[in-house]
Amino acid sequence: MDNNKETKKNTKYDGLLYQQKNCYELMPEDELNACYVFAENYKRFLDGARTERLAVSMAVKLAEEKGFRPYVYGQKVAPGDKVYDINRGKALTLAVIGEKPMSAGINLAAAHVDSPRVDIKQVPLYEDSEMAFFKTHYYGGIKKYQWVAIPLELHGVIVKLDGTVIDVSIGAGADEPQFTITDLLPHLGADQMKKTMSEAITGEGLNIVIGSRPEKEAESGSKVKVMVLKLLNEKYGITEADFLSAELMAVPAFAVRDIGFDRSMIGGYGQDDRVCAYCELAAILEQEKPVKTAVCLLVDKEEIGSEGVTGMKSQFFDRFIADLCRSEGTSLYDCFANSFCLSADVSNAFDPNFPEVSEKRNNAKLNYGLSIIKFTGSRGKSGASDATGEVVAKVRKMFAENQVIWQMGELGKVDQGGGGTVAMFTSQRNINTIDAGVPVLSMHAPFEVVSKADLYMAYKGMQALFREK
Ligand code: MN
Ligand code: MN
Repeated sequence: MDNNKETKKNTKYDGLLYQQKNCYELMPEDELNACYVFAENYKRFLDGARTERLAVSMAVKLAEEKGFRPYVYGQKVAPGDKVYDINRGKALTLAVIGEKPMSAGINLAAAHVDSPRVDIKQVPLYEDSEMAFFKTHYYGGIKKYQWVAIPLELHGVIVKLDGTVIDVSIGAGADEPQFTITDLLPHLGADQMKKTMSEAITGEGLNIVIGSRPEKEAESGSKVKVMVLKLLNEKYGITEADFLSAELMAVPAFAVRDIGFDRSMIGGYGQDDRVCAYCELAAILEQEKPVKTAVCLLVDKEEIGSEGVTGMKSQFFDRFIADLCRSEGTSLYDCFANSFCLSADVSNAFDPNFPEVSEKRNNAKLNYGLSIIKFTGSRGKSGASDATGEVVAKVRKMFAENQVIWQMGELGKVDQGGGGTVAMFTSQRNINTIDAGVPVLSMHAPFEVVSKADLYMAYKGMQALFREK
């Protein structure tokens, strides 16, 4: 519905006006119940999917339960086949083969599963004043002051010289220790408080406390560091040099919770963009034999520009689609030219605490449904893929036919800032693409908030995409 379809007409001119409605005014009772059930499943996923690797392994587990199998390159597929392909443990492509050939194009939903966080450096471990720390380099766009004095978990891998991969996950279990970055007490914060928010906490100041107990036998100055290494050696069989080839990250240790007396919202870390990733995933897992091949893409590295072998710029995706095309003698170019993509990424929800950064008529609002963004970018749409009017009309029709409540959004008022998504990299491949996602409050903060109604409408939006003929 264009959000005004079910509105009772008050004057003879109502049909002329574009009037938006809150989801709660439009959703029937049974749909609200389904929405709250869906939210519980999403919360479980989000609670475990703290990193891109964890998100991928959780998605694969859910997919295998639904009959998806690893894709074998060079092998022929048939309509109804459900396959997946993992890219280096950090990105995932899932496909359900459609009745129409690949030359008819695919229906693609593309989200990212990486989120802003604090990465551990390659020579991270040091001791200062009889405390042990990890040096870090933050990943993605964070406000550094938000990452001090909160509990942190540690996840990732340590790859030893012989290639053995050791999975590390500490802090999520109830009895496990956690970590933190300290902040200055206000009593001594007079100088700090005079600084700007971007200067008060520096990047090199984001040092994580990891120990304070000395090993008596070790040399003075490294007693605490040695104790930490001794414990790590006992647990993982590693030495300090193994950090050189480790990929460890600290993420907020907050549990995913309902927010509000009415439980209408969900708070948790990494909802940009795991909220859209989950909606895509839930929708593709239901597919049996779509008309066109349905593809769900969960990529890494969006938060740092979609670079690298696991990002949207990687040809990993092209190789997979090209192989599906090859088995029926279609060119990848022809497939892409007829494909359609929802770049499923979050938008900013209008925040009445900061009204000055948004333009109310065009900003997405909490509980007004799936947010469509025609263009992202900044300073005169720079860096935007800027979907065509034809593409916008297509999604209007698609959502109207599938009762998806949706709204137009934009990333803040003109010249306030901006940002990008994977949309520019799918559209570069000659795929008609538009951004569609869940509006978020406190985006990129350690604890982000979304609405359950918007979450559900994003899921319905992805279902609608995969139904497209
Ligand atoms: Mn995002
Ligand atoms: Mn982001």
